[in-house]
Amino acid sequence: MRNHESERAPAWLRRPVAERVGRGPARRAVAGLITVCEEARCPNRGRCMGDDNTATFLLMGPGCSRNCRFCSVSPGPAPLDDAEPEKVARAARDLGLKYVVLTSTTRDDLADGGARHLAATVEAVRKTLPDAEVEVLAPDFGGSLPSVDRLAKAPLAVFGHNVETVPRLYEEVRPGADYRRTLDVLARAAEAGATTKSAMMVGLGEEESEVLAVLDDLRRVGVMAVAIGQYLRPSKRQMPVARFWEPRAFEELEAAAYAAGFVAAACAPFVRSSYRAGEIYRRLKTARKESGAS
Ligand code: SF4
Repeated sequence: MRNHESERAPAWLRRPVAERVGRGPARRAVAGLITVCEEARCPNRGRCMGDDNTATFLLMGPGCSRNCRFCSVSPGPAPLDDAEPEKVARAARDLGLKYVVLTSTTRDDLADGGARHLAATVEAVRKTLPDAEVEVLAPDFGGSLPSVDRLAKAPLAVFGHNVETVPRLYEEVRPGADYRRTLDVLARAAEAGATTKSAMMVGLGEEESEVLAVLDDLRRVGVMAVAIGQYLRPSKRQMPVARFWEPRAFEELEAAAYAAGFVAAACAPFVRSSYRAGEIYRRLKTARKESGAS
């Protein structure tokens, strides 16, 4: 773990470097693109990039029009790179990926919030790499439902949109976001036929009862998969960790998520929103088949 909290993190958050970074042959092939795996120094990047043929690309960056207090992406959006969809598709092909996760900055400065650009990237990856599945971790598009529809109707495996934290902490943690709007985005994507997924962090000051209430809200709007991990402060610029949740508490959250009706739940200290994304997708796909959905 290389982040600002590493000096005081409890034992269960310390992993050997080899386990964290793994083989990761991917880095050379993504010149000019940002993978969230590397940018955020994700603790699972060895596993995903090395073993699961999965990588997460950050689109429409490097700057963001928001400034969430947990996030290491710099504020200040830049002009869109129209060639980015093709660049990502080529990188995914060169890496031999089987499961591609596309995430993005939030682009309140663009009329459609970047929906057209994201959908174009999904389409480019699918065209270049027809055997790969694509998951998008979408921004909230400022609540624009036509933008949600535009993306949800692209050939996606999973439409992800993260709730990130409990509603009481939104103003402090995610200024510019709105809890109700986040639920509306997820509801609309599910209505448009997408399989939806969400993720949040604990350790920002939330109570367990508030996390359980969020799980219920997510189920109410049709979310099928959830991921919950420990917030780790990327640097002194971001907010400090309020609490390190113990592994046992994550096990209890995972059990609660399954009891609430999620098809897939991943809750553990190192879990991030794209954690084992391909594996979770396969479970969602099986569940959809069993329920008779296409
Ligand atoms: S909107 Fe997303 S990328 Fe932008 S600052 Fe917030 S978490 Fe980071």
